[in-house]
Amino acid sequence: MTTHLKIPKFSIGVGDRFAHQAKAQLQVCILANAKGLAIAPVWNKSNREHTIIGSEPTATRQAADKAVKELVWPLPYFLDADHINLKTVDRFLGACDFYTIDVADSIGKPADEALVQAFTHRHPELIGTVNIPGLDAPLHTTADFVASVVRKYLAAVIEAGEIYRYIEQKKGAGTFITEVSMDETDSPQTPIELLIILAAIADEKIPIQTIAPKFTGRFNKGVDYVGDLAQFRMEFESDLAAIAYGIHEYGLPDTLKLSVHSGSDKYSIYKPMREALRKFNAGVHVKTAGTTWLEEVIGLAEAGGEALALAKEIYAQAYDHRDELCAPYATVIDIDQDGLPSPSTVDSWASEQFTGALRHLPGDGPETALYNPNFRQLLHVGFKIAAKMGNRYLHMLEANEEIVARNVTENLYQRHIYPIFLQN
Ligand SMILES: [Zn+2]
Repeated sequence: MTTHLKIPKFSIGVGDRFAHQAKAQLQVCILANAKGLAIAPVWNKSNREHTIIGSEPTATRQAADKAVKELVWPLPYFLDADHINLKTVDRFLGACDFYTIDVADSIGKPADEALVQAFTHRHPELIGTVNIPGLDAPLHTTADFVASVVRKYLAAVIEAGEIYRYIEQKKGAGTFITEVSMDETDSPQTPIELLIILAAIADEKIPIQTIAPKFTGRFNKGVDYVGDLAQFRMEFESDLAAIAYGIHEYGLPDTLKLSVHSGSDKYSIYKPMREALRKFNAGVHVKTAGTTWLEEVIGLAEAGGEALALAKEIYAQAYDHRDELCAPYATVIDIDQDGLPSPSTVDSWASEQFTGALRHLPGDGPETALYNPNFRQLLHVGFKIAAKMGNRYLHMLEANEEIVARNVTENLYQRHIYPIFLQN
């Protein structure tokens, strides 16, 4: 499968909910580039975020183009229509050149049994002993097992093919990056399931360049990974091996790589990720979604005065509307209601208390003493409140551009890019 537009080996998905931080985010890639890491920025914003905020993908496009022009960024960059399907893709067709086709809802839908049997006949290499280079031991499967996996995923893959061909027909083959995402579902996919899914995707002739499986463990929004690190390491390495094998065996694009969703703040898995990527000489795409929005609030709180007052107002309203704000994110947040400070408590806070409670730093040193993950997660999903404030919020960002940008850049570079890609 050939494709003209290729995703570079390393790329980072940056969410810019209010389209005000593109320069601060691009600055991160410039810093990385200066250290010898060529990493492409991908501005991703899902249909859900556009809908909650009331924005259109063209605004993201304009902000990205403007930042690239002003900072004279010489390398590729992309705009990701994140988590789209056939119903929602249309408004992204003009602005985006990266499509994350989300078929998680179709996992487990019944598949035509004749197609399942045809798959197992077409793929004898997946049955019995499967030798995947890079794995310590060969995998062992049976025809029944492969059929059961195909039964679970085939409807989702066929749907991904329909969505892919729709976009291809509108935009032209090879002019966009295709990702297939299966992360927003209940159970993780094992490496052998991933390989079977890749075979099915190749059969559907989808030239995918990134794939987002659901990994083992909790990937909650804006907080650290919760799960078995040794198991994560083993699965992540096996996934990398399965992808390399899938490229070779099924002729998928040689740029194909893993996409890690809700990748921001997963400090404890950055080391196993970094080591696995080096071991397999593999690329990766890491989506950081809402971490930038939180840095905006941190920057405002740090600025003090009316900016701090606005940050407190956002929290107070988020607190009052917490049930409604949390509902769409129920599977990816864990908030202990009793751990939320009351708005009147927060009202008495100085800048340092607010930023200390909100800022998420790696480790558990004294600098993390004020950190409150409940407070952080509620504000993470609270961007709707800022969206409702409209220009009041945006003007405050503009008035405090420097301090906000410093927080955005520092967070993405020092706490994300550096430990994932650059640390020794
Ligand atoms: Zn996602």
